[in-house]
Amino acid sequence: MSHRTPALTLVKPEEVAPPQTIEDGWRLYLSWPEVALAIATRDIDQQRAAGRTDDPVDDGWPYLLRALAQCRSMEGPPQPARMRADFQTARDAFALSGDARGRRLARLENAAIAMRLADWPLALAEFEALIGEFDLNQLDADNFYLCFGLATSYVYMGRLEESLRFGYAGLHLARQLELLPEIATITMPLGVALLAAKDPEESDALNETAIEVAARIGSAGLAKVLRNNRAVALRRLGRLDEALALLGEVLASPASMVGGQHFVHFNAAELYLKREEIDDAERHFVEARHLLAARGAVGLDLIKLHYIAGAIARSRGQLAAALSEFAIVDRMLPDVSALRFNDRAEFYDEYADVLSRADRPGEAFEMQRKSSRQYQVSLGVVNRVRRFSMQVRQEIHRVNAELARASDEQRKLQQANRRLRGEIERAIREADLLRDKASHDELTGVFNRAYLDATLPGLLTLSVQSATPLALVMIDLDHFKRINDRHGHAAGDEVLRRFGRNARSALRGSDLVSRYGGEEFCLALIGCGADAARQRVERLMTALRGEEFSPEFTQLGPVTFSAGIAVYPEDGVHVSDLLRTADARLLRAKRQGRVQIVCGGAEPRPA
Ligand code: GH3
Ligand code: MG
Ligand code: MG
Repeated sequence: MSHRTPALTLVKPEEVAPPQTIEDGWRLYLSWPEVALAIATRDIDQQRAAGRTDDPVDDGWPYLLRALAQCRSMEGPPQPARMRADFQTARDAFALSGDARGRRLARLENAAIAMRLADWPLALAEFEALIGEFDLNQLDADNFYLCFGLATSYVYMGRLEESLRFGYAGLHLARQLELLPEIATITMPLGVALLAAKDPEESDALNETAIEVAARIGSAGLAKVLRNNRAVALRRLGRLDEALALLGEVLASPASMVGGQHFVHFNAAELYLKREEIDDAERHFVEARHLLAARGAVGLDLIKLHYIAGAIARSRGQLAAALSEFAIVDRMLPDVSALRFNDRAEFYDEYADVLSRADRPGEAFEMQRKSSRQYQVSLGVVNRVRRFSMQVRQEIHRVNAELARASDEQRKLQQANRRLRGEIERAIREADLLRDKASHDELTGVFNRAYLDATLPGLLTLSVQSATPLALVMIDLDHFKRINDRHGHAAGDEVLRRFGRNARSALRGSDLVSRYGGEEFCLALIGCGADAARQRVERLMTALRGEEFSPEFTQLGPVTFSAGIAVYPEDGVHVSDLLRTADARLLRAKRQGRVQIVCGGAEPRPA
């Protein structure tokens, strides 16, 4: 494949965004069938509520995805009639719209339903019939589904080389398409195939890595089935305690089990049989049978039921029961070669043992020959299969390493981002504070003198350029010392604060209020000529005189001020001239009896 391998990104099911396109939906189905099922169901309900849309493509895909997702979802018993109805709706819509891809995928119906029913002979036949319809050189998600179906069906039919070949192809596709959960999903048939190929070490190693991948991507259901598979490998390796511990984890996991929870109980029953703890084996066998009764046992499940029932009877020395169960298994095996053949060799051994104990040496000999033939076949396969398994494991290892790096980098990136955001916020806060501190008077909240000095030249330039007037107002509170003397410094401070508040609310936002010193303030009123400035300052005087202070304070009478106004351009074109003029007029206002505003040549008048 000449395609560049894309970098893997981690997306967990709870982070999955609703699909916007058909391709998204299809990929979502492949990766998270449970999520896809929920979304497709919601889409269909919305379509129904809104009346059918005019776009037949829109009509077809939710039904197709819901049908396929039902086949993959392991919640509850399978409902083939419901699945078929959805496939039918989808097919009708695709026939109308002429959507070739939709039509081709809808043909997966029989294969997908057979897979859900664990009817592997049918599933395999259906998938094989579809191979010609898919272009296997194409790097697309459709092909992944075919590879997955074939790998799974082949493995349950005991055709390991084919299973591994398609499993490996599927793994590559998943890798290229970044179908992350599918990378772990495809290890399911691969791990089983390796087990069946009598390579439990390799299977164990593969599953161990795949479990890590599943955990990383947050797929609990997948991790569960992979753990179960690993427990089988450990059992085959004779590491029974480890296998039992792992099964304990699997049984404790609340995630729904891909393939069905009964697999775990089969596995546990066989494990306890190996440990010769027959009561425990039977307990799990009964549990599995109970679960299967609800969904209907076919194919491998049915064979397993009879095999384990026979094995338990054999361990208890109940030869007649063992013989009748094993006879059923033996009868089912030739037509349905669904029992994996290493199980088969063991089964033939066990059957031979029961037959010889039942004094049927001729048949026992026959069974032993079947068993050794089976082992011979398996030996031939092992060597051919190793080649694949090494490649598979390397690939999974690479994926795992990349995921570790990805999640590491993601975490680091997130940390760095959080840190950066924190730093920026802190910097902004500090800058605000600094700017505030540097430019504002702490007591009154208005600008300070430094800010006024820095700003006035610019304001004047703007006024000059825009040919608009600018008024500067110098204000000094009247008899402020008296307030301090009679009521204390805190009362004086309160008066200063009130002045600041009144000045800011009485003036426009663009006007500049600053504390010039002690109880002196300077206002810069942008765009104001003498009259407008006087009006505004009078408004401020009125507001301040209207302020209510505490009762003993009011004995002093209202708080007033004196003001001098100088206006650009009449009174000067430099900041210093204007300030000096305003100051001189303020002095005049004081001399003329306070509580007044002096502006240019106009007569001061009592406010
Ligand atoms: P006039 O009407 O002539 O302006 O009389 P005045 O008493 O207001 O003038 P003077 O300049 O004599 O007194 C100003 C007083 O303001 C002196 C000073 O103690 C007081 N002062 C200056 N800054 C502050 C301050 O931040 N808080 C308080 N409470 N008083 C201040
Ligand atoms: Mg004063
Ligand atoms: Mg003063």
